[in-house]
Amino acid sequence: MSDRMKLTCLKCGTVNGFPADKLGAGPKCSNCKTPLADGRVMEINPKILDKAARNDSLPLVVDFWASWCGPCRMMAPEFEKAARELKGVARLAKLNTEKYPDISMRFNIRGIPSMLIFRNGREIARQAGAMPAAGIVQFVRNNAGRR
Ligand SMILES: [Zn+2]
Repeated sequence: MSDRMKLTCLKCGTVNGFPADKLGAGPKCSNCKTPLADGRVMEINPKILDKAARNDSLPLVVDFWASWCGPCRMMAPEFEKAARELKGVARLAKLNTEKYPDISMRFNIRGIPSMLIFRNGREIARQAGAMPAAGIVQFVRNNAGRR
């Protein structure tokens, strides 16, 4: 097992490397100083999604959503709660399908909200429909360890 980790800054896209035991100390992006894994949900674009999915040592959980979608808005606070609980296990991010309409077709997303987990450049799991925080945490824990 490597004791170095890589995390893509979900704000500016810089890939940051650091010792794995510094994860709990709140590593920050070397470029823009945004915390890399503080348990907060970040809004991302498709370019950053690709970079993070390919490079990151932690799984990336992406909520595909839109502002017109009622269940998506209902799930937002639950997703944020889950992100705090999963700090250090996985990073949670949101991608607005209204802003990036091509993305739904690319990932074959039929309904929103849909949560996709990415690791080692691949989608490893997905779940459609709104879920409470506990359900999101369970879903991620069940899948995050899988290669
Ligand atoms: Zn950054």
